[in-house]
Amino acid sequence: MAERVLITGAAGFLGSHLCDRFIAEGFNVVAMDNLITGNIKNIEHLFGNKNFEFYHHDVSKYVHVPGEVDYILHFASPASPIDYLKIPIQTLKVGSLGTHNLLGLAKAKGARMLIASTSEVYGDPMVHPQTEEYYGNVNPIGPRGVYDEAKRFQEAMTMAYHTYHDLETRIVRIFNTYGPRMRLNDGRVLPAFIGQALRGEDLTVFGDGSQTRSFCYVDDLIEGIYRLLFSDYVYPVNIGNPDEITISQFADEIIKLTGTKQKVVYKDLPKDDPMQRQPNIDKAREILGWEPKVSRAEGLKITYDYFKSLSEEELYSKEH
Ligand code: NAD
Ligand code: UDP
Repeated sequence: MAERVLITGAAGFLGSHLCDRFIAEGFNVVAMDNLITGNIKNIEHLFGNKNFEFYHHDVSKYVHVPGEVDYILHFASPASPIDYLKIPIQTLKVGSLGTHNLLGLAKAKGARMLIASTSEVYGDPMVHPQTEEYYGNVNPIGPRGVYDEAKRFQEAMTMAYHTYHDLETRIVRIFNTYGPRMRLNDGRVLPAFIGQALRGEDLTVFGDGSQTRSFCYVDDLIEGIYRLLFSDYVYPVNIGNPDEITISQFADEIIKLTGTKQKVVYKDLPKDDPMQRQPNIDKAREILGWEPKVSRAEGLKITYDYFKSLSEEELYSKEH
């Protein structure tokens, strides 16, 4: 019998790529999502597959899955700043109550549970690049606190289930990831810039553009998560691409890539926007034998082709 994996947040950007990977590896996939920020189109192609089932459910409410479950990957959560500012309470609930429900399910089923944590647990970091040992610099009551603290609680709860209930757990700290199936209007910098270029609008750089990020292509991330799940390492592991760039430089790259004639316009920097971010991935290299393979130039080209293939309606949609 094939092993069975429950993926929450399955209709989202990362969840849908995880579904594809686990189906390709021969697993039975149980996908769960309440579609609050996801899109069913991301997994529609799997609906005819006999190894795939979908539950439309909010995981912050009691989660019931009949039958055996061997692995749970908890990826449900709004993930972009404009999403979690719009739905702050749901964000806190899915990271806390949702995680608790799924840990309870994992315990009842004897499943191994992996949670999607984030570089946001480091907040606006005072240590650079960020190692897993750094405790972070988070403002709990700032606008990003609803996401950051939910994720920090999620890690604490997961470690507690490991320590006190002997549950098999894994924690991945994901750094900015991009690729096909990101939502064009989710407010994250890459879809924002590419969407603006495609619509003939100016590119909006927040602040003076000197803040940095390090962007990882989605296939690299999925490979890292896959390896972590099947490793025996229970502490958090950073997965990301250490190739760091300022947001101004990033805007220039998108202008070149798209050939847009538009210019950059500067807007206020959102409160608590981290000034620098770069993963230290020594642990992933040592423990998982993993490092990213896809350069930003290659990854951006694939992602741009995806966004170009969207309909006019999707390009101008303000939904979500
Ligand atoms: P996404 O918004 O595309 O996907 C999240 C999915 O979760 C959506 O389909 C949404 O409908 C679903 N969801 C939200 N709340 C739910 C609930 N209560 N019940 C059921 N489903 C719910 O975001 P993403 O980029 O795919 O992020 C997935 C996960 O990875 C999140 O947990 C996020 O915090 C984490 N993460 C992502 C990144 C990144 O760069 N993409 C970085 C760090 C961490
Ligand atoms: N950003 C920007 N213009 C935009 C959207 C985002 O300059 O239209 C900046 C944002 O202020 C941040 C960086 O790009 O410094 C990355 O933002 P994103 O929302 O993608 O991710 P996060 O801040 O969560 O890393």
